[in-house]
Amino acid sequence: MSRPVSIPDHLLPADGRFGSGPSKVREDQVGALARAGRGLLGTSHRQAPVKDAVGRIREGLGDFLQLPEGYEILLGMGGATAFWDSAAFGLVREKAQHAAFGEFGAKFASVTDGAPFLAPSTIRTAEPGTRTQVLAEEGVDVYAWPQNETSTGVMAPVRRPDGVERAVPGSRGPLVVVDATSAAGGAAVDLQETDVYYFSPQKNFASDGGLWFGAFSPAAIERIEEISASGRWIPDFLSLHSALENSRKNQTYNTPGLAGLVMLDDQVRWLNEQGGMAWAAARTKDSSDRVYTWAEASDLATPFVTRPEDRSTVVTTVDFHDDVDAAAISAALRAHGVVDVEPYRKLGRNQLRIATFTAVEPDDVSALLACIDVVAEQL
Ligand SMILES: *Cc1c(COP(=O)(O)O)cnc(C)c1O
Repeated sequence: MSRPVSIPDHLLPADGRFGSGPSKVREDQVGALARAGRGLLGTSHRQAPVKDAVGRIREGLGDFLQLPEGYEILLGMGGATAFWDSAAFGLVREKAQHAAFGEFGAKFASVTDGAPFLAPSTIRTAEPGTRTQVLAEEGVDVYAWPQNETSTGVMAPVRRPDGVERAVPGSRGPLVVVDATSAAGGAAVDLQETDVYYFSPQKNFASDGGLWFGAFSPAAIERIEEISASGRWIPDFLSLHSALENSRKNQTYNTPGLAGLVMLDDQVRWLNEQGGMAWAAARTKDSSDRVYTWAEASDLATPFVTRPEDRSTVVTTVDFHDDVDAAAISAALRAHGVVDVEPYRKLGRNQLRIATFTAVEPDDVSALLACIDVVAEQL
């Protein structure tokens, strides 16, 4: 029988939530919920209090993302996973190409690949912990990849592929569709390099799951209209045309979770007040650098992603040496209220995964690393 591991209280992070989604919610967001308790929660999503909140969120996201002329923020129900189905029905004209270098990229690829009304997708894969990229290909009308692959902690540049012209209305050119679910709100992007930049609110935006948001270019909006008018059968719930019409009225097709909207509204306001995208990206870079610097200097561990330029600034992954049991470390941390640093389940590695989302305090990351050292010494 081994002794229970103990971590002195003064070493513990002030907030022990390091999960990659759902992720830490700031106390102020919970305060905003309490304030919304009478005016908004429990009221109709077709009336001003909720629609005004959705309007503020769309506008605030536009400010944060530095929305180019003509781009629009749309939202819909079901999170990024539902968006994949919506995109297969409503964005891909004929054939998609995916760069799939982890679970999330691969899931979207399997959706378009399996759609019976589309041609089989081109899927470019890479070993976990590395990445690949899309390449210009005749006949492809959607190029897709995740900016941040949350299952492995690999980050990819957001740039139109070489040889692929920017789509403009009337050009029928291919669209670039980027899964920013765990990147948006914590990483920099130039939206001119994308036509659809979509995400769920439960990662850097520190809110609840269940919705998707996206920045859509004029060419993407035209594509939605084109496919919607083509006669293809599209379930109403997944229709991007319906999302477009509802979003422009600051509403959703069916009832959204209001608490999540309130928490998101507060987080977007906070992010913009702090300094917006540049501030958020610098903060997550600071936090993630602390993890990688620690791992590189440590006798216990090493960064999982070998190429430094591929290492995520928002979801860090650290492999432990064979004689150190990462699962025992995460269990001991959990017993002390420091939670959700387990690796992505299907990866099956002796690893910890630590989210360094914008809501996480960099000093709490340093405290976590000190706790890991203390726990490893006692194991
Ligand atoms: C979390 C995540 C998803 C899934 O988001 P849901 O809101 O649960 O559907 C998709 N892609 C990436 C990159 C993610 O991190």
